[in-house]
Formats: sequence, C-alpha cells, structure tokens
Amino acid sequence: CGIVGYVGAQSALDVVIAGLKRLEYRGYDSAGVAVLADGGLASAKKAGKLVNLEKELVAQPLPPGSTGLGHTRWATHGGPTDVNAHPHLDNSGRVAVVHNGIIENFAALRAELAERGHRLESETDTEVVAHLLAEHFGAGAGLAEAMRQVCRRLEGAFTLVAVHADEPGVVVGARRNSPLVVGVGEGENFLASDVAAFIAHTRSAIELGQDQVVELRRDGVSVTGFDGSPATVRAYHVDWDASA
Ligand code: GLU
Repeated sequence: CGIVGYVGAQSALDVVIAGLKRLEYRGYDSAGVAVLADGGLASAKKAGKLVNLEKELVAQPLPPGSTGLGHTRWATHGGPTDVNAHPHLDNSGRVAVVHNGIIENFAALRAELAERGHRLESETDTEVVAHLLAEHFGAGAGLAEAMRQVCRRLEGAFTLVAVHADEPGVVVGARRNSPLVVGVGEGENFLASDVAAFIAHTRSAIELGQDQVVELRRDGVSVTGFDGSPATVRAYHVDWDASA
C-alpha cells in the first residue's frame, strides 16, 4: 500500500518510518522495514499499526544504516500476519523486497521456485520476487539488472523496491500499473509510492513511467526500461498543494 526507500547520510530507519507515517492515511494492516548495515541486511515487520513495528524496533533494535526501505501493507494474498508483512527476503537473507499491487502469475512462479529448492515462507504473491531477484543476482546480474530480468517475468500490477546486502548504497525500484516517484535530494535520494513520503526532505521529484526500473544511489539516479533501454523521465517540482 505505502512504500518508502532511502539512500543517503541520514538514518534510513528514521527517514523510512517518518515517510510511512505520512502515508498512513491510505490505510494498511501491517508494516515493515529493512536496512543495510555492517555488510548485512536487518529487517523487522509486524501486523497492525506502525506503533506495533516501532515497539518491536525498541525491543529489538536494528543496527544503524543509511540505505533502507519500508512498507505498509494492505493484504491481497495471505492474511495480515507478521510472516505475510513485507519486506520479504530470499532464503539467504541478503535481499529484501517490498511490493504494492498484485502479481497475477505468482502461483506458477512459486511452483517453479519450490522445484528449484527455494523455501517460501509466506502466503503472499510478493515473496516470489525476493527469490527470483536472488537467483538473477547470484547469476551475476547487478541488482538493477536482476530487477529488469525479474520484471519481464511478472504479470499484473506492481511497484517494487529492493535492496541487496552485496550492493550497499543502492536501492532499486520498478513499476507497472502502480505508482513510484523518486525524490531527488543532495547527497541523498528517496523512492516512494506517493510524494507525501519525502516532501519533508525534497520537493524535486521524478515520476517513473510505465515499465521502468530505477537505480538509486546517494549521488545519482538512473532509469531504464524493463528491457534495459535508456528511459525518458518527467522531472518536476512538488508544490505545496500536492502535499495537502
Ligand atoms: N499483494 C501484496 C500482498 O498482499 C501487496 C499488497 C499491497 O499492495 O500492500 O502482500
């Protein structure tokens, strides 16, 4: 339902949680976050309101990191449980993904992954994406290229945002039939399903087009089509009215 991604110099967790709060008005049933820290990936997720997740983060703090993502979920596939909350990780725990929308062909992809030995733990359509990203990354693609390869296999409507512990300082996003906006800062960049998530930090935005993948780093944003072709994007200034 709500998605936030961040890479920069601030605490990713603080930026992501604040952004998710700005998206709460949309309604949701669970929430979760992941940050890249100390060469690994740490995540937390909880059914219920953001306050439940915040309590969990006090009880079990994540190590500090400046690359991260978060999600508020409105369940479509699988009930609103801790396990079904996003982010979803692959079996190595090195890749994390959050998703808005519905992946129509998830059942076929789940069966295929299970046959190749993947253990899927949730009932969501989303989890297949984490496993597919890990496979393509393991086969030598960078995270952005892995995302392009995976998106070409997906049917339905999706905004996806992912991080990989082996690519610290990178956040990758993708969209089809579901919104994704980049917030362009100085030495930091943002991704969100809605500009409301980052207008406290920047009003310089880029709207991703249909079937595009974005690779976000502290000092740069690059956008391509799912086929890898360079993409034209629309940059704009978010005025005050847009946040009302
Ligand atoms: N279909 C996904 C799920 O049920 C994402 C739902 C959403 O857009 O929040 O987990």
